[in-house]
Amino acid sequence: MNSRLPVAVIGAGIVGSMVALALLRDGHQVTLIEQGEAGGEQAASFGNGAWLSPASVVPMSTPGLWKKLPGSLSDADGPLVIRWPALPGLLPWLLRFMWAGHSVARVEATARALSALLKDAPQRHLHHAAQAGVADLVVQRGLLYLYPDRAAFHAEALSWRLRRDNGVQWTELEGPALRELLPDVDPRYGLGIRVAAGGHCLDPGAYVAALVRQAVAEGARVVRARATGFVFEGARHAAVRTDQGEVACRRAVIAAGIASAALARQVGDRIPLASERGYHVVLAKAPVRLSLPVMPSDGKMAMTPTRGGLRVAGQVELAAVSAAPDWRRAELLARFARRMFPALSGDAGGVTGVEAASPTSRWLGHRPSTPDGLPVIGPSPAHPDVFHAFGHGHVGLAAAPATSELVADLLAGRSPALDPQPYRPSRF
Ligand SMILES: Cc1cc2nc3c(=O)[nH]c(=O)nc-3n(C[C@H](O)[C@H](O)[C@H](O)COP(=O)(O)OP(=O)(O)OC[C@H]3O[C@@H](n4cnc5c(N)ncnc54)[C@H](O)[C@@H]3O)c2cc1C
Repeated sequence: MNSRLPVAVIGAGIVGSMVALALLRDGHQVTLIEQGEAGGEQAASFGNGAWLSPASVVPMSTPGLWKKLPGSLSDADGPLVIRWPALPGLLPWLLRFMWAGHSVARVEATARALSALLKDAPQRHLHHAAQAGVADLVVQRGLLYLYPDRAAFHAEALSWRLRRDNGVQWTELEGPALRELLPDVDPRYGLGIRVAAGGHCLDPGAYVAALVRQAVAEGARVVRARATGFVFEGARHAAVRTDQGEVACRRAVIAAGIASAALARQVGDRIPLASERGYHVVLAKAPVRLSLPVMPSDGKMAMTPTRGGLRVAGQVELAAVSAAPDWRRAELLARFARRMFPALSGDAGGVTGVEAASPTSRWLGHRPSTPDGLPVIGPSPAHPDVFHAFGHGHVGLAAAPATSELVADLLAGRSPALDPQPYRPSRF
């Protein structure tokens, strides 16, 4: 058993902050190295859809995707686009991505591995939020998938079978029961599928900041710096190199979101990681009664009631991390919200349509995505003193607590509570 080791965690997003807490509770001396504000806008953890969903077990790549992909990638108004100049660089990742969904058996295995990370996510987050003194930031009021009709629901039969096989339960709402829950939604939606076990976060950025404050209260040190590499003495890890000098430590954990692959390369690991760029808009003054997050089947975006207002998050834009934002993609989200909630287009509650429908903020973030839809968690094959904890794609907020426990188990040399095999870095 390894205890009381000096450990540096690179990145204070949701994954790094949770990993720091898990390591502190094992007695390690933890230094968090973060280049920006903890929970700041640079992190994917800041602006996501805020879903804590045990139902997010369906990978993006499923059988038959290869037939639909060319069409959807070139539909400029659709939920998935590619910036063509990025295609050559992304091609190897895209081929692996399509391969990952080539068979139902493969997708079932991915769903099981995602479920292991997600199944207790809301309860775990409620617990963490309470410990960090921000119990009010996490709620468990369920999540709702919205369909125009039963045919649209049945068109997603594989997704719901995967959810059911992984213990997700739901209730169906139609007619008055649906209207009562969603009084302001457009009547074209006739069926709601409610996953009562789901939860959401009311302000993910503030939540991460609170977790980091809690880590500091429990003894962590935060170093504001950009990690650039690793120092080894023989096979032994000695320090993380940063733009502000070296941070001495016997173990390092790479939890730097989309920047993680470059750091992993410094250790000698080539992990395929691409940014599935996503956007959000917040409509602070939306006169919309929404007690729980909703995902419309025809828009594939999260409509989440947050502390700042109605947050509409979604879109997958495959492009270089450094490419400028294409704010038309954020406008698509706002436009969809206006179609979904007619009150956003008229005058309601003393708020004019223009005010209600105008985003008060917009944001671009980088989902750190592996081609097989699973995160990379565990010791580096090249240098086992360095651990990987990244690549959570669409589910990093929800999966962070289980990830942190797995990292702590592996780093301590304990037999992990969770089977680490599906996430092992050596699989690429
Ligand atoms: C539009 C959108 C919607 C989403 N919706 C959901 C959702 O509803 N539910 C869900 O569970 N997930 C969702 N996600 C995914 C989720 O946000 C991410 O998987 C998760 O935030 C990744 O967390 P992270 O800690 O790995 O990375 P990040 O949050 O990006 O944090 C990485 C941190 O590392 C720091 N860093 C980077 N490089 C260095 C360096 N060299 N040195 C020091 N620090 C460094 C960065 O500054 C950053 O703070 C969504 C993502 C997007 C974009």
